[in-house]
Amino acid sequence: QMVNKVGEEALKKIKVTRTKNSRIGEIDFNNLIFGKQYADHMLVADFDGKEWKNAEILPFGHLSVSPSNAAWHYGQAIFEGIKAYKDQEGMPMIFRPYDNYARFNNSAERMGMPEVPEWLFIGGMELLIDLDRDWVPTNDGCSLYLRPFMIAADEFIGVRPSDTYKFVIINSPSGPYFNKPIKLLVQDKYIRAFPGGVGAAKAAGNYGGVMYPTMQARKQGYDQILWVDGLEFKYLQECGTMNVFAIIGNTAITPDLNQGTILAGVTRAAVMSVLEDMGLKVEERPVSIEELVEAYQAGTLREVFGTGTAASVAYVQELDYKEHRIRLDPTKYEVGNELLERLDAIRTGKAEDTHHWNYKV
Ligand code: PMP
Repeated sequence: QMVNKVGEEALKKIKVTRTKNSRIGEIDFNNLIFGKQYADHMLVADFDGKEWKNAEILPFGHLSVSPSNAAWHYGQAIFEGIKAYKDQEGMPMIFRPYDNYARFNNSAERMGMPEVPEWLFIGGMELLIDLDRDWVPTNDGCSLYLRPFMIAADEFIGVRPSDTYKFVIINSPSGPYFNKPIKLLVQDKYIRAFPGGVGAAKAAGNYGGVMYPTMQARKQGYDQILWVDGLEFKYLQECGTMNVFAIIGNTAITPDLNQGTILAGVTRAAVMSVLEDMGLKVEERPVSIEELVEAYQAGTLREVFGTGTAASVAYVQELDYKEHRIRLDPTKYEVGNELLERLDAIRTGKAEDTHHWNYKV
C-alpha cells in the first residue's frame, strides 16, 4: 500500500476490514445518482470523552444508535463535503482536504465537540480512498463526494454537551452536475444566521433551519434564497449551500466573513485565487443588495454566481429583491465559464496545480 506520512500513521491506528462482496458491479457509472449510492467502505471512530479510539474502516452499513442518542435531540452534529477526482493517469486526488479539515475542527469547537486529529480525518480519508479508488469516477464532471461527519453519542437526554462522539466518513460517487442557471430570492422574512450565531459552522441544524423558508421560495418559483443579514436586511451572506460572487466591470466582489454568519467555502477560497489568476480584482467586503441593483441599472453587473463543492459554479439568471428584477444571461458568462474550466482542469490534473490544492492518494 502506497500511502504518505499521515496515511502511515493512520495505518497504525485504524483497523481495516475489507468487504468480501464489493457492490461496485451494481453501479452504473454513466448514471450516478448523487447521495443515494455509497462506496464499499466507511470509516467509523469513537471519542470516549478523552481520546479517539476504535477507528476502523469496514464495509458500508448501518450504525446502531440508541433512541436516547443526544445528537438526535440537541443537534450536536457537524459535517463536511469534499470531492475526490482522478488525474490524467487515473490516480485519485482529493481537492483541498486540509481546508475542510480545518473548517471541521472550527465547527466542532463552536458546537462544543472534540477536535478530530489529522491521522483520523486526513489519514483515514486517504486510506478509505485508497481502498475504494475504483469508486472515484473518471467520466467528465464526475467525482467521489466525501462526507465526513461527527455526532454526539451519549445515550442521555439531559441538555448538556455530550461526553462521547462518533466520527464517520462515507463516500458517494456523484455524477456530472448540470449547471442549470438558478433563480434567487432576497427576502426579509427569514434569516439564516446572525453575528454570534452558528452560521459559520457546518452544523446540521443550519440546514434544518433553512428547509422551510427554501420550500416557500420554491413554491414561488425560485431555486434558493439569497440570504441577507437580519438587522438591515441588506448585506448579502450566501445562497443555498453556496457562497456568492458578483462580477462588476473587471472586479469580483464577495461578502467578507467578518461577521461569522457565512460558511467559509473552500470553493470560495479557490475561486478567489483563480479569479486573481485570470487578472480580475477580487474584493472581500460587505456587499449590499442595493449595490447589485445599482450596478444592474447602470449596466455594469456582468455576472452573479454561487460557488460550492456540489456545483462548483452555479450561474444566477434571476435575482428578485422587493420590486427589483435583475435578469442576467448566463450563456454570456465569460468569467464564470473560464473559472469553471480552470477549476476543472486543476482538479483533474489537466492543468498544473500551481496552488498545490490536490492531495494525491
Ligand atoms: N455555504 C454553505 C451554507 C454551504 O453548505 C456550503 C457547502 N459546503 C458552501 C457555502 C460552500 O462551501 P464549499 O465551497 O466548501 O463547498
